[in-house]
Amino acid sequence: MTYVVTDACIRCKYMDCVEVCPVDCFYEGENMLVINPSECIDCGVCEPECPAEAILPDTEDGLEKWLELNTVYSAEWPNITTSKEPPADADEFKNVEDKFDKYFSSEPGEGD
Ligand code: SF4
Ligand code: SF4
Repeated sequence: MTYVVTDACIRCKYMDCVEVCPVDCFYEGENMLVINPSECIDCGVCEPECPAEAILPDTEDGLEKWLELNTVYSAEWPNITTSKEPPADADEFKNVEDKFDKYFSSEPGEGD
């Protein structure tokens, strides 16, 4: 198993998760982060740290799309190990549903 980042991270990107990961397996896109499933050691430390509750274990139902997305983009986007300022409008997007269709960007973030 692994943990994966899901829809709730898009345009929130609070970054609380990256500091606690013992194996530095978060990768930064333009408006969300993903986890590299082959590097994640399933410790679960990041899950309660996310204010948007965007991080879930892939053992939950219906997360196949997110496992695929985390796998694909963690190979393309830069590694991030230190938190930065979240977007200024992050709170406005915190409880918005189905953000993937409206806002997902495949562009990479800056990384560390
Ligand atoms: S803490 Fe949550 S919302 Fe913030 S970057 Fe990590 S997964 Fe995304
Ligand atoms: S579960 Fe652990 S190893 Fe996996 S991304 Fe979260 S903090 Fe990192």
